[in-house]
This record gives sequence, structure tokens and C-alpha cells, in this order.
Amino acid sequence: ESESAKPHVAVLASPGMGHIIPLFEFSKRLAADHGFYVSFLNIASEASAAQTQLLRSPNLPPSLHVIDLPPADVISDVLLEDCPVLTRVCLILQENLRSLKSVLLSLRKPNALVADLFCTDTLDVCHELSIPVYFFYTASSALFAFSLYLPTLDREVDGEFVELPEPVHVPGCSPIRIEDLIDQVRNRKIDEYKWFLYHCSRLHMAKGIFLNTWEDLEPVSLKAIRENRFFHEIPTPPVHPVGPLIKETEPLTETGSECLAWLEKQPKNSVVYIALGSGGTLTAQQITEVAWGLELSKQRFIWVIRAPSGATSSGAFFKAGGEVNNVSDPDPASFLPEGFVERTKEVGPVVPSWAPQIAVLRHEATGAFWSHCGWNSTLESVAHGVPMIAWPLYSEQRMNATILAEDVGVAVKVAEEGGRGTVTREEIARVVRVVIQGEEGKALRRRAEEFKESAAKALNSHCGSSFESLSCVAKEWKALS
Ligand code: UDP
Repeated sequence: ESESAKPHVAVLASPGMGHIIPLFEFSKRLAADHGFYVSFLNIASEASAAQTQLLRSPNLPPSLHVIDLPPADVISDVLLEDCPVLTRVCLILQENLRSLKSVLLSLRKPNALVADLFCTDTLDVCHELSIPVYFFYTASSALFAFSLYLPTLDREVDGEFVELPEPVHVPGCSPIRIEDLIDQVRNRKIDEYKWFLYHCSRLHMAKGIFLNTWEDLEPVSLKAIRENRFFHEIPTPPVHPVGPLIKETEPLTETGSECLAWLEKQPKNSVVYIALGSGGTLTAQQITEVAWGLELSKQRFIWVIRAPSGATSSGAFFKAGGEVNNVSDPDPASFLPEGFVERTKEVGPVVPSWAPQIAVLRHEATGAFWSHCGWNSTLESVAHGVPMIAWPLYSEQRMNATILAEDVGVAVKVAEEGGRGTVTREEIARVVRVVIQGEEGKALRRRAEEFKESAAKALNSHCGSSFESLSCVAKEWKALS
């Protein structure tokens, strides 16, 4: 079949590797498994090195095309400087989507546009061009249910949600503890909340919603979303769980190869892999505690480390996503305790900024993942059968940590001093030992293994629930041609 005869779908992700990775994976599957011609619209002006590397990977399906959006007006750094992550994402999108109409008009008309949550402005342009819009929600379906319910909550609750006396009850879902509420709704007066609410209130206008989850992982939330018609006065569009859509392989950088060569020499399930997503950063004091905690634990580790950030826990969101091999990354020895790198180099390599996460998780020497619980990291860990140590930092990560520890049963949470504070070296040493050496760790690993199997089953092209769910929509799109 010639390329131009294939049905065409356009895909658009928000900035940030946590969005780009799953939407790109989705695009690859559509092209490779379902016979589509896919245009992946890329906000190139914001691309980090890791993003560019991903989008230019060798061996992409030939009918997947990356199309750079024309560079938008630069938003003043002053405006972006102190913005929380989500506000920045939304402002960048607002500028970059001005060209969407002309870009879409310059392509063969797509049968559908798939965009992620913060791209709801695509609805207006696509309505004008009669292109159906689908959203791909890159977080949990528990958060998706909360997002659908937020406009109702916003109407019904006076004052701040964080002052509510009881957990938040999204109909049909597990209650959300006040301390787990996502950052974006913890202060209703700030812009970040308004942006989040704005996009959430437009979610139901899509023709359908793809969720990066699968039936067995989140049965309660999925049932609630399907059965509950009270999130809105307007019914929720059909939801399609298509996950776990995670990266497969990735090209290795030099440090990445070294890190895997070291793993090769370690015993099975003996290494804890520590990484805080594409954006996570720690304070200098916390880095010191982690370093001492790891030494105290006497366990093996790989630590993906970034320079300390005093002001925010998402300090690297826009530049990491990996300044892969960036020369300007300071030498970790400069902010780690004196002699740490030297003392631990045999038992625990530190990797500056970015590691080949999938390859590490897939390796049998990896025994646990110390994670900030971003949704992609969560799916990647579970799909590889690796138990987790949950250390949520920002955004919806506290909610994910609770789901993993209490509903899925594959994680332990670290205890922070005073609820939301520093994690001490003693706590770090304790948790690492428990998960790598203890009975609790073994139980978590068995459970994670079960989910690894169930994930593989969901994706199986013979009747897997997630595979089928994408196939169904693919058939509807093809019928539009
Ligand atoms: N990632 C990686 N190497 C790193 C850190 C992160 O490959 O050193 C990838 C990771 O595999 C995941 C993504 O970056 O796919 C991070 O997404 P997640 O949702 O976990 O967190 P976010 O970055 O959105 O906070």
C-alpha cells in the first residue's frame, strides 16, 4: 500500500518528555501495527537534547513523520522565570498552536487529531476544519477521573480544597487524601489552577479519550469513568485504555553504555535505580542525605543525579529531559559529599542528568526503582516487574505513590519528616535495605511480576485488551477515509 493511500492521523504532545514519550510511542504503534500514516507535530523550539534524540531514533516506522511546527514568538524569559511548570507548558502551547491551522491545512487532511490534555485549544481549530479531536491522557485514570470531576468540585466547594475536612470523593473512585491532591489544585487563586481547570473543563468535548493504563492496573477508576455520568452534566466521551505505552529501546550515549556494562557485573535483583523523571531536582541538603543514606544502606545503586535546585523540585523540567552529555552539566563530585564518588564507584555509579531508563529497568540486576512516580516511570517499572520506592516530588506524583503503595501493591513510600519535608539518611538506608534485602521487598517483587505479565497480556496483538481498544478506534478512523 502506498504511503499516500494510508489513512492519516496527526498527533500533538505538550512540551516535556513525560508527554512526548507516550504520544510518540502511540504514534509508532499506529504507524507500525495499524497501517496509518502519522504526522507527529513537534514543538521543535522547545526541544531538549533527549527529545531530539528520541524523535530522530533510527528504525522508526517509515510512515511516521515528525513535522516541526514553525517557531513561535519567543515568550519572554521574565514571564516564564518564576512560573510553575504547568503555566509554562500552557503559555508555550498557546504561542505555538497559533500556527496549527496553517500546518494542518498544509498536510493531507487527517482523519483525526490526537492531542494531550493541555492542548485543548486544538478543539476550536479542528472544529473549523472538521477534524475530530481525541485526547491522550498521559497520567493515571484516577487523575483523569479527578480531572473530569474538577469543574463540578470547583462549582460546589467554596474556599480551598486543601482546607476540606475530608478526602475528596470522586464518584466511584478511591478517595483522594488532601495531602495527595495535585499541586495544580492546592491554591485556587493562582494561574496554574486556572489553566488546569480550563483544560479539564474541555476534556469532555473530545470524540474519545485514550488512557495510558490497562484494565488490571486501575480497574476501579476505569469502571467509575465508564459508569458514572455525573462528572459533568455532559456525558464523558468513550475512553480507550491503550497502555502501558512505554518506550521500547533507546540509543545509548557513552555514559549510558558504561552504566549498562557495570550492571552486567552485578548480581540479580541487587541494584536500586534512582531517577526522578525528566524534571526532578533535589535541594543540596537532600542530595547530601541521599548520598549518606545510600552509603549507610550498603546496597548497590545507580543514581541519576542533577545539580541541586533550591527553589523547586521540578527544576530541570524544561532543560533536562536530558541535556544528554551536556558539557555545562556540573560535575556531580562538586555537589556530592567529599569523597563520595570515589568511595562508591564500584558499588554505585552516578550518572549525570539522564540514564537509559528502559534498559536499566529491563536488566535483571535491577532490584528496585527509587522513583518520583511520574506516570511514565510508574508504567515502565510495573511493566518490567520492578518494585518501587516511591518518593513523589511534584504535580500528581503523590497520588501515584498512593495508588502504587495501596491499590497496586508494588511500592513502599518513603517517610518525609513532618509530612512534606526532608527524607533523612536513616530513612533512605532503611527503605533501600527493606526493598532489596527484606521479605517485604520479595512480596513487592512478586506482585510486580504479576503486573508485568498482565501488562504484556494487555498489549498482546491476539485479544489483548489494550491492543483491541486501539484497534477498535483505528477501525473507526479507517472507516472515515
Ligand atoms: N527518563 C529517562 N532517563 C532518565 C530520566 C527519565 O529515560 O534519566 C524517561 C523515563 O523513562 C520516562 C520519562 O523520562 O519515560 C519521564 O516521564 P515521567 O512521567 O516518569 O516523569 P516526568 O518527567 O513527566 O516528571
